[in-house]
Amino acid sequence: MPTCCRSGDGEGQLSVASSQLPEKSKTVAAIPTIGVLAIQGDYEAHARRLEESGAKAVLVRKPEQLDPLDGIVIPGGESSTMLKFLERDGFLEKLAEFVRVKPSFGTCAGAILLAKNVENPAQKSLGAMDITVRRNAYGRQIDSHIHEVATKLAGGPMEMVFIRAPKISGTGADVDVLAKDGDEPVWVRQGKAMAATFHPELSADKRVHEEFVRMVRETQGDL
Ligand code: GLN
Repeated sequence: MPTCCRSGDGEGQLSVASSQLPEKSKTVAAIPTIGVLAIQGDYEAHARRLEESGAKAVLVRKPEQLDPLDGIVIPGGESSTMLKFLERDGFLEKLAEFVRVKPSFGTCAGAILLAKNVENPAQKSLGAMDITVRRNAYGRQIDSHIHEVATKLAGGPMEMVFIRAPKISGTGADVDVLAKDGDEPVWVRQGKAMAATFHPELSADKRVHEEFVRMVRETQGDL
């Protein structure tokens, strides 16, 4: 019998008496403050969904606004245009540092920015997730579409709106696929980073934003 974890009396209690354990600190359930990068895309809709999901949302247009945030949402748009904007005033470097330590959620172009590798064509990114993303990967005929897709969440299939969407063409071993549309991963998480190739802010279903707010609270130690 291993000696590490049991007391010697054979009754199977933990060997550390509860009086020796540090007193559990009381955590007050704080409302997380989540930024929404407000360069392009429907950042207002993201902010509304976040507030409906129990967070305080802040529109972010300057690098110094990142400092007090508990997490960030990077919306859709055109990732190359967003990159151009971010390449001024050290915003890109500051955002890369932010997503290394705090929770982030990228949708569509935001997912492209969070990826480690970008194809079609290759471009700079924040490298927060071990995924390869292929831009504009659906042919012209179906470049925008809506599908009902099963996810790992309770509550049945989810409406997903795809607009000139990328495809996640590769996922590292630590990436959890939360939803697949056919064979394609469309919603993934790795640690404190999450990415979706669709636009959850455009559907009435709040589950994706609720999941991100839950992630942020989890990293705050509220759960
Ligand atoms: N096609 C865009 C890109 O490559 C992404 C589209 C979107 O965010 N809806 O950046």
